[in-house]
Amino acid sequence: MPISIRFVLPALWTALVAPGLLPGQAAAPVPRKYIGPPTVAEITAGDLMTRVYKFADDSMMGRQVGTPYNDMGTAYIESEVRRLGLQPAGDNGTFFQKVPLFTRVLDSASTIAVDGATFTAGTDFTAGANGFTKDVANATPVFVGAWLDTTRNIPVDSARGRVLVFVPGGLAPGTDIGKFVASNGYNQWLAMRAVAAANVVVIGEALSPNALRNAFQSTTTNYLQDWVPLTLNVTRAVGEALFGAPATSWTHRMAGKPITTSVRFVDTPKPGRNVVAMLPGTDPALRHQYVAIGAHNDHVGTRAQGPVDHDSVRAFMQVVRPQGADSDPRPATAEELVRVKAIIDSLRAISAPRPDSIYNGADDDASGSMTVLEVAEQFARGREKPKRSILFVWHTGEEAGLWGANYFTARPTVPRDSIVAQINLDMVGRGGADDVTGEDLEGKLLRGGEGYVQLIGSRRLSTEMGDLVEAVNAEKQLGLRFDYSMDANGHPQNIYCRSDHYEYARYGIPVTFMSTGGHADYHQVTDEPQYLDYPRMAQIGRLVFESALRIGNLPHRLKVDKPKPDPKGSCVQ
Ligand SMILES: [Zn+2]
Repeated sequence: MPISIRFVLPALWTALVAPGLLPGQAAAPVPRKYIGPPTVAEITAGDLMTRVYKFADDSMMGRQVGTPYNDMGTAYIESEVRRLGLQPAGDNGTFFQKVPLFTRVLDSASTIAVDGATFTAGTDFTAGANGFTKDVANATPVFVGAWLDTTRNIPVDSARGRVLVFVPGGLAPGTDIGKFVASNGYNQWLAMRAVAAANVVVIGEALSPNALRNAFQSTTTNYLQDWVPLTLNVTRAVGEALFGAPATSWTHRMAGKPITTSVRFVDTPKPGRNVVAMLPGTDPALRHQYVAIGAHNDHVGTRAQGPVDHDSVRAFMQVVRPQGADSDPRPATAEELVRVKAIIDSLRAISAPRPDSIYNGADDDASGSMTVLEVAEQFARGREKPKRSILFVWHTGEEAGLWGANYFTARPTVPRDSIVAQINLDMVGRGGADDVTGEDLEGKLLRGGEGYVQLIGSRRLSTEMGDLVEAVNAEKQLGLRFDYSMDANGHPQNIYCRSDHYEYARYGIPVTFMSTGGHADYHQVTDEPQYLDYPRMAQIGRLVFESALRIGNLPHRLKVDKPKPDPKGSCVQ
């Protein structure tokens, strides 16, 4: 099998790359499809390749949460942990923890009543709620002002249980979004709306076709986790009934006539589940404590706009947007277009054009999910077993907003305070010398290289955890080179808040997030198995195995020596 020679001698292979070709692109075409032999007990590059090619194959259609393809991916993981003889730690003795996901459409029989008049859904209003919600009865409307105009905020106590009424608005052109969402005004605006009985936006004369489509034909997957107030989009006629006055005369904090709603939604369950498996600890006392190891099993599905040429995307992104979806979406310069064309021409020499519409998510996060599976296999089939138990959690819905991890830590299947640490793997398959893995605080581009891996959050709750991971790397001579640049406070890419580990950290659980960082294929259809660095993934897998083993055998729980965040607060890096 030629492919294995390729992996035994990765350095040689890359040396053959002709100038002008791209990271991971070799002189001879690397297989787009690969079916490997049965896996072995140890963490190996070959096993990782076998697993990633399966889990990120086109047939998985990008494993988006809410689609049957996410179930296909989690079914593979479940079949493996069951084959390995690990203990089910999901719902009701299974390996799955179902996350409450739904498509939600408005029931056209819904009505609202104001001052003796009844208004109907689809004609006078539409309604939405991205969570559990309830009707309001005889609630007093208060006119606030333009949507997102935080200068018109009213005190949270005055908003509580009221119906807040807005007119369309929005941010002034040129507003720095980052600064705005971090502002007190914006957080007060969110808090004000969160305690209201309902929020109403008076959208104009009639409901737009788009608003009607969103209300009655939505296929969006919703994660219903908390109670939220209703949001109503109403016509000017309803608005004027609320205040008994023309819209031109509404003033800030003007009170209106009582409103009562009878709003119903039709919720259709959607696929999306965490996979949870456990290796019981060997010590009768310590086995009731858990070291959690995780990754996310979902990605972003397929390209709604249809296929694009694979190689052209690769060439364009490499030259113009080296951090993929994290790069500024700017147009190419004339000089760049020349370079892009040159690369495409050289790629044409070795591969035919290929229309591509699937976000395979080989690095994001098949690399993490399959490395966790390899670690699980070593724990299950290997000789070394820790005193504490190991909990393996493959979270769903990470791309949609850390949904699976949020649900697991809010409703854990083991006591949350018995989880002593969490190691999260998200994108551990790249980090090559040609990959732009991120930026430092000064905006200088970071690049990977031999043994490159980013550590994020490893000392944010427990200095001991960060020290331990470093000690393991040194003592076990794993040859990894840690980059902490992305862990800097106030870092604009905010990576510490962008993956599942934060849902553990929010409860004060020490975490370490491992990643080889960004690259030109990030969230592109070009994030495919043939561009990953499997030997590096195996190195990282061994770091995870050895670190978890050491934490699992510590005579004491990892010491939390840093302040714990507010579990209900928003993440701040
Ligand atoms: Zn990811």
